[in-house]
Amino acid sequence: MCGIVGYVGERQACPVIIKGLHRLEYRGYDSAGVAIVHPDGVIDIHKCKGKVSGLEAFLAGKDSSGTIGIGHTRWATHGEPNDINAHPHFSRSGEIALIHNGIIENFRVLRDALRTNGFTFRSSTDSEVLVNLIEYVRESGKCSLEEAVRVALKQVVGAYAIAIVEKGNTSRIIAARKSSPMAIGIGDGEYFLSSDAASIIDYTQDFVYLKDNEVAVIEKGKPLHIMNLDGKDSKVAVQKLKMSISQLEKGGFDHFMLKEIYEQPETLEDCVRGRVIPDSKEIVLSGVLNNKEKFLKARRIIFVACGTSWHASLIGEHLIENMCRIPVEVEYASEFRYRNPILYPDDIVIAVSQSGETADTLAAVDLARKAGAFIYGICNVVGSSIPRATDSGTYIHVGPEIGVASTKAFTGQVTVMTMLALLVGRLRGTIEEGYYHRVAQAILELPATIREALNTAEPVSALARTFTYAHNFIYLGRGYNYPTALEGALKLKEISYIHAEGLPAAEMKHGPIALIDSEMPTVAIATLDKTYEKTLSNIEEIKARGGKIIAIVSKGDDLVRRSADYCIEVPSTVECLMPLVSVIPLQLLAYYIATYKGRNVDQPRNLAKSVTVE
Ligand code: GLU
Repeated sequence: MCGIVGYVGERQACPVIIKGLHRLEYRGYDSAGVAIVHPDGVIDIHKCKGKVSGLEAFLAGKDSSGTIGIGHTRWATHGEPNDINAHPHFSRSGEIALIHNGIIENFRVLRDALRTNGFTFRSSTDSEVLVNLIEYVRESGKCSLEEAVRVALKQVVGAYAIAIVEKGNTSRIIAARKSSPMAIGIGDGEYFLSSDAASIIDYTQDFVYLKDNEVAVIEKGKPLHIMNLDGKDSKVAVQKLKMSISQLEKGGFDHFMLKEIYEQPETLEDCVRGRVIPDSKEIVLSGVLNNKEKFLKARRIIFVACGTSWHASLIGEHLIENMCRIPVEVEYASEFRYRNPILYPDDIVIAVSQSGETADTLAAVDLARKAGAFIYGICNVVGSSIPRATDSGTYIHVGPEIGVASTKAFTGQVTVMTMLALLVGRLRGTIEEGYYHRVAQAILELPATIREALNTAEPVSALARTFTYAHNFIYLGRGYNYPTALEGALKLKEISYIHAEGLPAAEMKHGPIALIDSEMPTVAIATLDKTYEKTLSNIEEIKARGGKIIAIVSKGDDLVRRSADYCIEVPSTVECLMPLVSVIPLQLLAYYIATYKGRNVDQPRNLAKSVTVE
């Protein structure tokens, strides 16, 4: 969701910025723009609704020379996506240009106050209010730009990552953040700026991640200067980001999503490496082991998450309740944060987020912190905000996920949750030794199992064609596979725009079965587990009402085949890991239906990759 790229150094800034903006495109946006400070100190802003390639075309033939600039991809929150609302925004005098990710919640109050001081606004954005507030503070306080930024930000309620350039200054960018990521890349005599370090990995691996309420003065030829809003200097800690450019490219696949589906055997291997010891089956999750007491004494575990991470958390609930006998609740972070929830100091709150930047989940973490709970993070992006705000945690280590529809992050999250449940169950003595070893062994075999599950691609792709006509879908599962059904339905909605609903299979008769007719396909997960027979009956009930059934079944199954219209066979593993296997054909089904419908799979309409606004 929305992106920032900046550059100051000896190179031409515009190509660097455009390349970075292209790398951020997958996050979802509606307009793009750049502000370049020309060598004579004049700032030019070029911006337009639409894609970064549109901005490039718009720039052709225009003077974009200059070795300092900032660029933005906007995901509109205030004001429709159009050329005027696109960023950067000039201040009233044209002295300052600003780009902003996030939301200024009190922008109305600030705008009204500025209006009484004679300011007018060209756009409908909250961001234009901020740039003028900075100008107003600078003019009225007769202070430096960085001081004006600090003082202005103290008046702001909301979330922001901002970057600012100033007329006449060809060597300095000012940046700041609160609840929205911002990284500064350090090159040789040059600086890069991005809301996602991965977008500038072509140029440097050395990054400084701004913390909340920090302002950075990024000046060519000078050391990086970071301070808090009171002007007190902060430490500049440089971190290495180990990532290769190939991880950010499609590697021969048509879409990032397909590449990421196929990567899952390797990403799960990375996720498990060093954490399940092959010989002893010991589980080494330092985040848990260093906080053993907390897990031994936990009164409750509460997952807070959104979207796919919420589905993974529902599986986490089964895993932890089964293996650790600790009561678990799973909360939508967006609801939890506003509900005045009851939390105890001996509760553990587990925050799950691929990006580690999900605004609602971060807010839920804040709330849990105030209530004194122990907070654990399960995230993918190293160094992101949630891992920094939690007491401990485990990275899923599945590499950058570019496709907006999450696939490999889901399987990584569930794998981490399984390792966590196994380890805590063993520490608490709530798990039988034989079962522990079986599950640990199955985790080690996961890459091979998932590789086999990927063989479903061919039959799934063939049947997907038949279902491109459908307007609705129902997904059914039970037990561990009920959340998988929810996840399958979400994948289809996200990228094909077909309405789909996930349900626990037995709920059908309590209402939704009324929807069944020959036009309503049902995807039923009916693998061999303890509810297999029951699911079989649920399938019969749908069949009897003329519904079309696509069943996900265990290899060699011939019972379901008698009722289902299509059967997709998946390999077997221990029951608690079956969601990882059965989700593979569901990811593929959504992918193929969406591509046959000609959808933009990697950048579906209206969606953003990491939801950094609430
Ligand atoms: N709130 C700002 C706007 O609507 C910034 C949105 C974004 O984060 O891209 O323009």
